Amino acid sequence: MKKKLVVITGASSGFGAEVAKILSNKGYYVALLARRIDKLTAMNLDNALVFEVDVTCREQVFNAIRQAEEKFGDVDCIINNAGIMLLGELDCQNPDEWDRMIDTNIKGVINGMQAVLPSMRKRKTGTIINISSLAGQKTYQYHAAYCATKFAVHGLSDSVRWEVAPDNVRVITISPGAAETELISHISNDLVRNDYIDWKNSIGGVISAKDVADSIIFAYELPQSVCVRDLKIAPTKQQN
Ligand code: NDP
Repeated sequence: MKKKLVVITGASSGFGAEVAKILSNKGYYVALLARRIDKLTAMNLDNALVFEVDVTCREQVFNAIRQAEEKFGDVDCIINNAGIMLLGELDCQNPDEWDRMIDTNIKGVINGMQAVLPSMRKRKTGTIINISSLAGQKTYQYHAAYCATKFAVHGLSDSVRWEVAPDNVRVITISPGAAETELISHISNDLVRNDYIDWKNSIGGVISAKDVADSIIFAYELPQSVCVRDLKIAPTKQQN
């Protein structure tokens, strides 16, 4: 069987790094995109190309994907996973944090989708996997701007699915609950970050990056004629 090329944004840690490792071990070609190229290089994966890319920069995303295609052929799947979660109360949060989340979590996903869709539609095959969150369907305290960006991911995925379904292109949204990654380390508000850590401990810990990676790959590896539109995965003890 011909090896397929999967592009993963935010592959330097968390879910992205786990998906990259598993797919590389399974023999897929992988193109790994993130800003910390040293981390991507250190993963030392087989069948992989690494690219220093900020997903907020459309040109960088497009260039990396074109270079990966020159080496490995057409993209079969893109996992738009790169994201940041900067929590806080809206009235006092630094607007720079909203800007960064909007640019990364929304525009980054649009950049990734647009870079691969024309070719997928022409070839009548392909899969887009957008990583949202339970916070893309429900609201939580301190999450206003983050929720807004993840609700947007659902709106984008559902709209684009409608557009590309006749061309046999799948659009899948994965919505994780709390998982153990670097994500919360970027929260600048100590009180909010510590609250989150206390809550995680109170439920006896959360799911692993591998748990989420396995669910992403499960949805991807179903036949092309089957589209898991939305998949939610959370710790069993997470109530909200
Ligand atoms: P991590 O912080 O471990 O990983 C985030 C990844 O995104 C890193 O590889 C980071 O790489 C990359 N990234 C961030 N900003 C950019 C950018 N501008 N350009 C390119 N890459 C970028 O967190 P997770 O693995 O948890 O997060 C992955 C996704 O899952 C995110 O979209 C997040 O919102 C979502 N999510 C996470 C949950 C959790 O509990 N962990 C729950 C629900 C959803 P680098 O810094 O090298 O650029």
